[in-house]
Amino acid sequence: MSHPARQESGPELDPIVWQLQVDLAAAFRLAAQMNWHESVGNHFSVAVSADGTKFLLNPRWRHFALIRASDLLLLDSNDPDTTPGPDAPDPSAWCIHGGLHAALPTARCVLHVHPPYATALAALADPELKPIDQSTARFFRRVAIDRDYGGIADDRAEAARLVRVLGSQRRMLMGNHGVLTVGNTVAEAFEDLYFLERAAQTLMLAYASGRPLHVLTDALAERTAQDWDEYSAAAFAHFADLKEMLFRNDPSFAT
Ligand SMILES: [Zn+2]
Repeated sequence: MSHPARQESGPELDPIVWQLQVDLAAAFRLAAQMNWHESVGNHFSVAVSADGTKFLLNPRWRHFALIRASDLLLLDSNDPDTTPGPDAPDPSAWCIHGGLHAALPTARCVLHVHPPYATALAALADPELKPIDQSTARFFRRVAIDRDYGGIADDRAEAARLVRVLGSQRRMLMGNHGVLTVGNTVAEAFEDLYFLERAAQTLMLAYASGRPLHVLTDALAERTAQDWDEYSAAAFAHFADLKEMLFRNDPSFAT
């Protein structure tokens, strides 16, 4: 959802694609501000074609804090000449994100990072996101957990494996690795990433106290998770306001 007071037109001919570029660039800038980035790695993508084979991805080895809408690569997961070119994307990201979009055309946006708290939680022998407050309960029985980390993968088999692990969920806690969220829009995938890291922070801080957890009952956790559905539109309000803050502080992301 764009802010009504903003002109977000750009050099691209297709205004819908340009809006996706602006939103994705905003997500990169915001992820850096929230300290979810890691060096010049990690990737966000958005499907552009209905079948998901054409998608936007960040350029290789560019810091999230500097990414502009016009920097984003428009890729085709069926194009075998994608990776050898001079503007080639990271091969692992091209393979994994391309595979995910092609297998899940409804997953319009895919966000993957290694944020500190969720990654620490993912490194525990028991990485379950236990419902101990409202934010953790948002994810009750609503997160896929990948327990088969196998190193840095760059083949389609890894993408197919992640699709199987994700199943019908929209969030994945990737054991010994990080997190992944998918959404119909950048705003929705971003909101899930935001709350996933917040929930993991709360749980890890509670664990760090060394005191026993007071875990919500399954019934209360389930009811709380369902109550979150009433607030699904908040994702758009949150993302619109975060974008507005970016426009005020450094509008270069939208160029
Ligand atoms: Zn990763």
